[in-house]
Amino acid sequence: MNSKINAVKGMNDILPPESARWEWLEDKVRELMARHAYRMVRTPIVEPTALFVRGTGETTDIVEKEMYSFEDRLNGEQLTLRPENTPGVVRAAIEHNLTYDGGKRLYYMGQMFRHERPQRGRYRQFYQLGAEVLGFPGPEVDAELMVLAHQLLADLGLANVRVELNSLGVPAERRAHREALVAYFERHAALLDADAQRRLHTNPLRILDTKNPAMQEMVQAAPQLLDYLGEASLKHLHTVQKLLDACGVPWTVNARLVRGLDYYSHTVFEFITDELGAQGTLCGGGRYDGLFEILGGKPTPAVGWGMGIERVLELLVLQLGEFGAPAPDAYAIVPAAEALPLAMPALQALRAEGVKVQMHAGSGEGMGSMKSQFKKADGSGARYALVFGPDELAIGMVTVKALRDGTGAQVQRPLGGCADWADTLKA
Ligand code: ATP
Ligand code: MG
Repeated sequence: MNSKINAVKGMNDILPPESARWEWLEDKVRELMARHAYRMVRTPIVEPTALFVRGTGETTDIVEKEMYSFEDRLNGEQLTLRPENTPGVVRAAIEHNLTYDGGKRLYYMGQMFRHERPQRGRYRQFYQLGAEVLGFPGPEVDAELMVLAHQLLADLGLANVRVELNSLGVPAERRAHREALVAYFERHAALLDADAQRRLHTNPLRILDTKNPAMQEMVQAAPQLLDYLGEASLKHLHTVQKLLDACGVPWTVNARLVRGLDYYSHTVFEFITDELGAQGTLCGGGRYDGLFEILGGKPTPAVGWGMGIERVLELLVLQLGEFGAPAPDAYAIVPAAEALPLAMPALQALRAEGVKVQMHAGSGEGMGSMKSQFKKADGSGARYALVFGPDELAIGMVTVKALRDGTGAQVQRPLGGCADWADTLKA
């Protein structure tokens, strides 16, 4: 026997019945986005490596150690499997001059790749759903995006997700804060771990993000960016907060919520649950007014978020229980293969009317006994069996037998006019 080949570590197959939850979520997302007038974008999974080095940031975990990068064997191009979708969306917007006639509201869903240590809620291939609003500078779109994420979680039926919010101000305000922060960390150099020491001069803001328990107290007392914000930045933040209040989205300020890159400005936020252990951040986002320029575009304000679909679905199962695809309405029992040329078109006619029909499939030897077919029909969860027996077929009829209402009632229906009785099979 040949040796068996398994999936790459940290990359999951999504199979029934779980896959039904994915379809359900994707349908909810499409419907929600349409109601908010956001439109779908799909960008390539492979992009030039430089897009992420510049667009995600050289000093981020993603670029420092998580990217799947490779050289194109045929032409030597440096390529990377996308670890996130924002740089791809902005690249596409620049390349196709998407904002030439005004701002755009966009969303995406798809695979991202990060070489992390696989664990609960952390995979090497995972799916993100994201929304990006390009071309609008005002706090109202920051608020709209947060309301959108909140609404999605509500539509899915999730509870106990909190919203943390912060402002990163503008680059000049961050520079002043950064100086104070570096000076503070230098005074506490003895407490810095190796990671923090390395970041002290490349990306000190990220030290605030540390998960090292030994550093928590020191980091808690570090200078806060909020204290360095000027009037305009504070006004932006307060407007977002006021609009969230008006829409009934509760929030708290987390002064340590940061993104250590210069192209971020103003609003940053996360949606967090305490029910998924360490991987509790469902959604992270913020305003990235500087990114278009970094990627060679015209200055264009922009804001967006990304949400981890695996984490959202895991929380959904925790809170609401497992569910799969609904059972078919009817199961077609075909006693003899000779009946198939009559049965199959009838099933197509029923399906065309919206009835969910599963057809019995034979063993290769034959279709199987009536008893075994009825057992399969029962197991399928269908409410009706459609019996294509020789007697009823001879008079142009099919027998419809109730499987689940306890009556076992049978009626005969004309094969010729399936559309006329299709509705009687629907839930
Ligand atoms: P974390 O701190 O958990 O590593 P992050 O800051 O790297 O998150 P973002 O880049 O903001 O995450 O991505 C947005 C969302 O995508 C996260 O909030 C999370 O829900 C999800 N996510 C990120 N990395 C992974 C992963 N490796 N596996 C599954 N989901 C992930
Ligand atoms: Mg990460």
